[in-house]
Amino acid sequence: MSPVRSRIGSRHATQLLLLHLQLRLEVGSTSVDNNTVLVITAHPDDVDFGAGGTVAAWSASGVEVSYCVVTDGDAGGFDPEVPRTKIGPIRRAEQTAAAKILGVKKVIFLGYPDGRLTPSIELRRDISRVIRQVKPARVLCQSPERNYRRIYASHPDHLAAGEAALCAVYPDARNQFAHPELAAEGLDAHTVEEVWLMGSENPDTFVDISATLEAKVAALREHVSQRTDEDGRLEERIRAWAAEQARAAGRDDATLVEGFRRVGTA
Ligand SMILES: [Zn+2]
Repeated sequence: MSPVRSRIGSRHATQLLLLHLQLRLEVGSTSVDNNTVLVITAHPDDVDFGAGGTVAAWSASGVEVSYCVVTDGDAGGFDPEVPRTKIGPIRRAEQTAAAKILGVKKVIFLGYPDGRLTPSIELRRDISRVIRQVKPARVLCQSPERNYRRIYASHPDHLAAGEAALCAVYPDARNQFAHPELAAEGLDAHTVEEVWLMGSENPDTFVDISATLEAKVAALREHVSQRTDEDGRLEERIRAWAAEQARAAGRDDATLVEGFRRVGTA
């Protein structure tokens, strides 16, 4: 049993102790040689739904987490009275506020149009630029494979952002001769050691978010334009989903987890 999995049974610890234990084991369970994580997602709110509890845990342990959000989510929102040109800035502000709650200071927006994302050479280059600037040991991104058990995880923009992120991790960011304009900007090649995929049909790595679920819910509530908690039952839904993921992983159903597929890229 891996340290990551064994820690999930720590039900008798206090929440704080559990958090410390979780963080220590989490950090100790990886081979990464720096404390920097870059999260790459298609839309504002994706990271908060898929990995908000995990990001909060990493931040609390001293890991420096940065976000790269590919689109402004300008095809989102529900209110026809709000001009579409205003949606992008609103969603950037919501994502920035949500990031702050989870201890994330740096949020980079690439400004691609929502709903029309493809894993283009330009997107690969732009993500590679951010990887070379941030120099993360670990990248957290969306799975480029369609999840047939949970189709909402597989919005076409998510698949495209995930594919472009993986192409940027390998080979673009580490190949000094790829996208020569980046070298011309003074950005050296950088090798990411591992990638964690959100929304995977086959997760193999589970993070206990019992101690950080409330922070996750608070971050999600910042996405007001998306009506994330309009019925007041957001926390209930997030708890049920985290428990379901724990059960699917063969954990006690009192445990709350977020699941990822881990890919070695060193
Ligand atoms: Zn999305």
